[in-house]
Amino acid sequence: MEQPVADGLLRTNSSIARDIGLLLDRYGPFEEEPRLDAAHEIVFTILSQHTSDLNSSRAFKRLMERFGTLEAVAAADVSDIEEAITPGGLAKVKAPRIKEVLGMVLELNGGSLDLSFLRELPLNEAKAWLRQLPGIGPKSAGIILNFSLGMPAMAIDTHIYRVCKRMGIIGPKVSADRAHDLLEAAVEPDSVYQFHLAFITHGRQVCKAQRPRCPDCVVAADCPSRDQFQAEEEADAVVVTNPAPKRGKRARQTPHSPSPRQ
Ligand code: SF4
Repeated sequence: MEQPVADGLLRTNSSIARDIGLLLDRYGPFEEEPRLDAAHEIVFTILSQHTSDLNSSRAFKRLMERFGTLEAVAAADVSDIEEAITPGGLAKVKAPRIKEVLGMVLELNGGSLDLSFLRELPLNEAKAWLRQLPGIGPKSAGIILNFSLGMPAMAIDTHIYRVCKRMGIIGPKVSADRAHDLLEAAVEPDSVYQFHLAFITHGRQVCKAQRPRCPDCVVAADCPSRDQFQAEEEADAVVVTNPAPKRGKRARQTPHSPSPRQ
């Protein structure tokens, strides 16, 4: 009988593949859209940390309009970068980081920002290369490798991490960092891109952080959390149907009624 392949992974590869299929039937398939090249994706990834997609897109657009090329950004004063990316938030932190990262890429890569050589490396080496850059953790490295370079690197964001824990794919104590390695090993390389988009869409639309919509969920039959959430929904519904009496009315006692403390 097929068994999960690693500690912390609670489901077999084939049951994960089945759920990817169900989610893709509902939300996919997803077109592989042309993305930014890897160096631009690095900058975009830094800009998108701790802010909305809208704000990070605005900041990236302003940055490129102001400087034209990433080489020019790398040579610019931090204060000018900061001014350009202000709409994205945390500009004081992100501006020096962008300059530092671009400087480091140029230094490590013989003066070039062309990172297409990463495609030729084994996946773990490509990840390690990116992760030596400040501010590039496993999620950012996964996004850059998967979306820009078409490599089967897993990028686990907050939605995917939550959904995988609720669905019992990974154990409750598995860290987000570890989840990258476990899921990368469990999902077929050809399915990594579709997995990412299917799970993130499911987390945003149905398996939301607050009040997951379990009755609308296509993977509910496999989900060990469904009963708990449905019980909570039913308990909430009882409270709404029978709201507690307002203070004062509830405390009123008749001569025949027992004290609430008895
Ligand atoms: S059944 Fe509920 S908790 Fe489980 S994956 Fe679906 S929405 Fe999420």
